Amino acid sequence: MRLTLLGTGDARQVPVYGCQCLACLAALRDSTLRRLPCSALIEVDDQRWLIDSGLMDLTERFPPHSLSGILQTHYHADHAQGLLHLRWGQGLVIPVHGPVDPEGLADLYKHPGILDFSQPFTAFETRALGVLHVTALPLQHSRPTLGYLLEGDGRRIAYLTDTVGLPEATHKYLQRQPLDALILDCSMPPQPQPPRNHNDLTLALHIIDQLNPAKAVLTHVGHTLDAWLSEQPRPLPDNVVIARDGMVV
Ligand SMILES: [Zn+2]
Ligand SMILES: [Zn+2]
Ligand SMILES: [Zn+2]
Repeated sequence: MRLTLLGTGDARQVPVYGCQCLACLAALRDSTLRRLPCSALIEVDDQRWLIDSGLMDLTERFPPHSLSGILQTHYHADHAQGLLHLRWGQGLVIPVHGPVDPEGLADLYKHPGILDFSQPFTAFETRALGVLHVTALPLQHSRPTLGYLLEGDGRRIAYLTDTVGLPEATHKYLQRQPLDALILDCSMPPQPQPPRNHNDLTLALHIIDQLNPAKAVLTHVGHTLDAWLSEQPRPLPDNVVIARDGMVV
């Protein structure tokens, strides 16, 4: 099982348009430091699923029939905006499995085009997609949002973004068996007040400490976190890394 992080930024991406901070200036100079909208590709056997669709060039990246479908965490624009273009294709149907969210994004449900939204996940439902088993895990965010536990090839990877902390039931579910990798929302450096919609580094490290995965990868990274990290000598524990666009887990 192979998970590739296609984008690792927050809604604003890095560099933030017009920002002059250390992280944004560095990303303007060095394209490897840029962060596109948070998304990933999970591949195992003949299964190839895109997790979130915020990238704006999906039709160039994924030729027709190269994707099994899309696992949608939620319908905020930075995670779903690529669907607004992808839907106008023809000659194929792309299943989009996500949370039940009556609003969706813009007019996607009214004009779905080639996208099939007819099979949303229920909480803690497990679906077998070939040899890939996907379990939908409720998260805490400003919209109905699901994280995904991905199991295949004897490996277990949890992909949890966007979230602030974890609901008790999701936490308990993940504690049952050890994780090989945890990909986790960490949008901000440590905040003086408890954050409302996304983990800051303090909360993210607390979750990692409790779930104790073999490896943790922080994603949905905002420019303030990048700037903060660049000034810390050793900011992270040994089993925790900051995601980069293109990183393979
Ligand atoms: Zn987001
Ligand atoms: Zn900046
Ligand atoms: Zn969101």
